[in-house]
Amino acid sequence: MRIDDILKNKKTLSFEVFPPKKTETETAKLFDTIRELKKLQPDFISVTYGAGGSNARNSAEIAGFIKSEGIEPLAHITGGPSAPQEIDEVASGLKELGVENVLALRGDKPVGYDGDYCKYFRHATNLQEYLKKYGFTMGAACYPEGHSECESLYADLVNLKKKEDCGAKFFITQIFYDNSYYYRLVNEARKIGITSPIIPGIMPITNPKNIARIKTMCGSTIPMELRNMLEIYSDNPVVMREVGLNYAAYQIMDLTAKGAPGVHLYIMNRADTALEIYGRLKNFFNELY
Ligand code: FAD
Repeated sequence: MRIDDILKNKKTLSFEVFPPKKTETETAKLFDTIRELKKLQPDFISVTYGAGGSNARNSAEIAGFIKSEGIEPLAHITGGPSAPQEIDEVASGLKELGVENVLALRGDKPVGYDGDYCKYFRHATNLQEYLKKYGFTMGAACYPEGHSECESLYADLVNLKKKEDCGAKFFITQIFYDNSYYYRLVNEARKIGITSPIIPGIMPITNPKNIARIKTMCGSTIPMELRNMLEIYSDNPVVMREVGLNYAAYQIMDLTAKGAPGVHLYIMNRADTALEIYGRLKNFFNELY
């Protein structure tokens, strides 16, 4: 089912998973995770895609598995250095699997990559244009604190409008820990005529490693009150996890109350994270989603 159609009728609960490093045991473990996530009746599960197509086959296999479990898959595709024929292979493979929804992205130059990373698809919009012939329902990424390469939030928003004009029917945000960035993004986006739903992406901080990763990879601000709590409990992983999960639950309550169209949880392939968040907000999800 088209994700934009689902969003017309209800708030969505969705999760992101990523293809594990290529061993059969790891993939089997991820399949178990997906079976666990199914218990929460997610509206869709997205599968990431290695920059430059590094794990395209694995990613498609996982999208196919999600579909076979009766859950709607959202397959990420990154353009960047992939030649059009490589994108054709990926797109037709997904079509054969019955995947209807894709998240069109540019991707980032991996560390040590030599050459023009954006040789074939400079921006997500170029990939969106190319994918049009396949008839997928397309989503795209957006950045509550602005994309790191963009000179201003406004310039980034103008580019976001280009993504909508190129066919993006919904957006999923980069992770954020201060909801006011999300509200600002939505307000400013509406002012310049962007009408598509903007789904907030939430990633609970559940261990100290997450903090460094968030800072370097996503550039997301961690508010002082959260940072203080995480630091105080940094040598007590059980309590620290509790802080991270409760903070994510608080973010979701606030976002839902203020009209967010759903929530997309970055769970780092851990079903227990999803189940624990769900457990904290059971009535919220049952009554309002
Ligand atoms: P773009 O839309 O190309 O934006 C990059 C920069 O270019 C921005 O500064 C933007 O303002 C500007 N820009 C955009 N369009 C134009 C235009 N038409 N003209 C001029 N400037 C423009 N990475 C992966 O490798 N695999 C994944 O699966 C993956 N999934 C993600 C999912 C989400 C929800 C998010 C938020 C990010 C994801 N990423 C993934 C990371 C993403 O690839 C990087 O953030 C990357 O730096 C930008 O991707 P983009 O699609 O937003 O690029």
